[in-house]
Amino acid sequence: MHEMSIALSIIEAIEAKAAGEGPGRVSEVELLVGRLAGIETESLSFCFEAAAKGTIAEGARLAIEEPQGVGLCSECATSFPVSFYYAECPACRSLRVQIVSGEEFKIKSFTIEEEGK
Ligand SMILES: [Zn+2]
Repeated sequence: MHEMSIALSIIEAIEAKAAGEGPGRVSEVELLVGRLAGIETESLSFCFEAAAKGTIAEGARLAIEEPQGVGLCSECATSFPVSFYYAECPACRSLRVQIVSGEEFKIKSFTIEEEGK
């Protein structure tokens, strides 16, 4: 499953970054997942929970932000929201549309709580 390997790579990245921070537990992870990124956020949350077991991120809350897809027409420079890759310009019907937003996928931030507090 695609989402499981994404979940694993998120945890790997968190563990790598947290390694220098001393003992603690990740309480929250903020993700940015564009609507055109091709990632099922519900499935990702589920996989993350399973993959986090026994790691520093066990029990962490996932906060997922999903930016809208935005297309930019190469013919008339109109920008408009898109929900598919093959979008048509609403102004001039051109198919020469560039996707300028909505494909992002990144870990925005995460919170580490020190142990024993
Ligand atoms: Zn256009």
